[in-house]
Amino acid sequence: MRVITSITEVQVLIEKLRREGKIISLVPTMGYLHQGHVSLMKEGKRRGDVLVISIFVNPTQFGTGEDYDVYPRDLERDKKLAERAGVDIIFSPNALEIYPRAYQTYVQVEEVTKNLCGLSRPTHFRGVTTVVAKLFNIVKPHIAIFGEKDFQQLVTIRQMVRDLNYDIEIVGMPTHREEDGLAMSSRNAYLNPPERKAARSLYRSLLRASELFTSGEQQVEKIIGEVKKIIASEGIITVDYIKICDTENLQDLIVVDREAVLALAVKVGKARLIDNLVLKPLH
Ligand code: AMP
Repeated sequence: MRVITSITEVQVLIEKLRREGKIISLVPTMGYLHQGHVSLMKEGKRRGDVLVISIFVNPTQFGTGEDYDVYPRDLERDKKLAERAGVDIIFSPNALEIYPRAYQTYVQVEEVTKNLCGLSRPTHFRGVTTVVAKLFNIVKPHIAIFGEKDFQQLVTIRQMVRDLNYDIEIVGMPTHREEDGLAMSSRNAYLNPPERKAARSLYRSLLRASELFTSGEQQVEKIIGEVKKIIASEGIITVDYIKICDTENLQDLIVVDREAVLALAVKVGKARLIDNLVLKPLH
């Protein structure tokens, strides 16, 4: 496994590998790797000949007052985990390598970034699409793998790839969870024991909503009411949003009469946590 910090060095290496006919897969991450990341890496390994992961805590996707400075980082630990998962190349540039002085170009996907996390993090997705576009240009992957845990991010990236004609296959992978259902996230490291315990209610509430939906409830207000009740029973959680949206355009629904995503974002202590579940009508 090679660890590379320079853009030029990665580009030269990838050019050579592509000439040899190798299929390149890319898993972009912000590091502090967990089993959710590993499931993406395994899929990358399965689909490609050369597995590249990027580890870069991307400053442009954090708003002012958010956790950029304290976001957990541990490259040595990440290297061991990546090596075991079969990663061939770790690309881990520093912020100045990606955003040199006088940097001024951004990629903005318009509509699907407005709702959900876009409401409370208005510059977040611009940062995500900018860095992912740059990673695509640097690593030139044939395949890139993302988690459905960040549902809006996945929809946004698929839109960017269509709109900008990137010749890259985007693969979405299911959310990997702890035994009690909490979605794995690097930010779970912020949780103290009572917060960690309270956070179990997020997945529990999603499952309850799914049950309600399968037993015939289609009214968004009713389903969300139930989710809120379960989360509110844990006093230390504050809700940013709980919404049910069309999975294609991420517009709010009133009735779940098509494939929809139930998505939520909450604050538990210092951690902003997100989770979601797709609701699929039977007919
Ligand atoms: P991050 O390092 O949090 O930016 O995540 C890097 C990639 O891993 C993104 O595509 C995430 O959606 C994905 N990811 C994060 N957590 C999980 C999880 N629990 N299960 C599956 N994929 C995940």
